[in-house]
Amino acid sequence: MPKCKNCGEEITKFDKDICPYCGYKKPFDSNEYETRDVTQTIEFIKEDDKYNFKIKKRFIAFLLSFFLGVFGSDCYYLGFVKEGLYKFLISAVIFSVISLPLFFYTELSYYAFVVGGGVIFILSMLLSFVYIFSDTIKDKKGAFLK
Ligand SMILES: [Zn+2]
Repeated sequence: MPKCKNCGEEITKFDKDICPYCGYKKPFDSNEYETRDVTQTIEFIKEDDKYNFKIKKRFIAFLLSFFLGVFGSDCYYLGFVKEGLYKFLISAVIFSVISLPLFFYTELSYYAFVVGGGVIFILSMLLSFVYIFSDTIKDKKGAFLK
């Protein structure tokens, strides 16, 4: 807290023009206790943030997960970009682990990839029901799905 140069009373930084105790003008060196314009530190809401404040729909998340879940689409929709990429990566690994051995070591040929693809799509379809049955899923902004 600054002190008045004239009377020595403790005053606030907002009393920089005049001391409320003795009426002394410029009671302290104002550059020492600068008052900041708080509006400069407020971040204004950007247009894309306004969009993100919209409530994410549970059914849209379900549909995205059901049909395009192997790419992590439902995660992107809810704002979890990193998690979506992980989901896509995990799907690709499971796909490869199933398809490649079948392709190289069985008579399945290109059907091996259909099998691998089928497995990851079915897994992702089953996973998508979490959006229907769980009430605790939130989007990236922490809002519950409606
Ligand atoms: Zn004073």
